[in-house]
Amino acid sequence: MTEEKTVMPYEEISKGVYLINEYDGVNCYLVLGSEKALLIDCGTGTGDFKATVGKITDLPLSVLATHGHVDHIGGADQFPFVYVYRDDCKTLNRLQTSLLLRKLFVCANGAMKARGVGAKDVKKGAYKPKLVPIDESFTLDLGSKTITVKHTKGHTVGSIAVIDEEDGIIFSGDNVCDALWMHMPGAASLEEWLPGAQWLYEKSLKYKIYWGHRTPRLESDYILQVINWGKEILASHGKNSFLAKTKQYPAREDGIIYKTNKVYKKGN
Ligand SMILES: [Zn+2]
Repeated sequence: MTEEKTVMPYEEISKGVYLINEYDGVNCYLVLGSEKALLIDCGTGTGDFKATVGKITDLPLSVLATHGHVDHIGGADQFPFVYVYRDDCKTLNRLQTSLLLRKLFVCANGAMKARGVGAKDVKKGAYKPKLVPIDESFTLDLGSKTITVKHTKGHTVGSIAVIDEEDGIIFSGDNVCDALWMHMPGAASLEEWLPGAQWLYEKSLKYKIYWGHRTPRLESDYILQVINWGKEILASHGKNSFLAKTKQYPAREDGIIYKTNKVYKKGN
């Protein structure tokens, strides 16, 4: 891509809150306070975040990821460090920030391909990826706005929701969505996912919810539907199967993808 093309499309979704669209592959968000800015998720790193953020603000920037997947921390090497919930710092980070997995992700993403983005656009950044572990005591004062996080394990064991109280927005990562991935290594069981999903539903009655891919806004009704699917999966499995089988429920494009040996918490 040319220099100009590496600046990603962005739009203001609320006053001082921006959606940075990594070429239809990943939705990242930028929250501006009066003194600092926070980037939530750094995509696979095909675009230039510094240049993109630079078009919007010159405030000092912190970076926080909703979870440790390649499409959310892949761009970590463009920054000195990225905050990630501690449970997602334990495993797989090397792989998830590797050039190889980033290239594989981009190649497999039809929407990015349609935008003319490919493996060649995944480039090494200026830094070595460094993830700084956080827990639920994490708060970030942006000046006029304070950011907090809620641990919502499920899609990954260290998934978090990022709460922007002043703007009434929660950035929920990929923990509740269409075609929810619960089958990847590092995911929790559906039983463990349920409380975080229910928390998000309750919050969605008051806050606007934005997530990590496709249509950025997540509506309450849809969250409730995904929760009900999760409950139906739990009800249909008395216990975990011995052998892992990947299933999608309901059998439609946006159903939850899960493993039959990871429905319930281990040991139950
Ligand atoms: Zn993910």
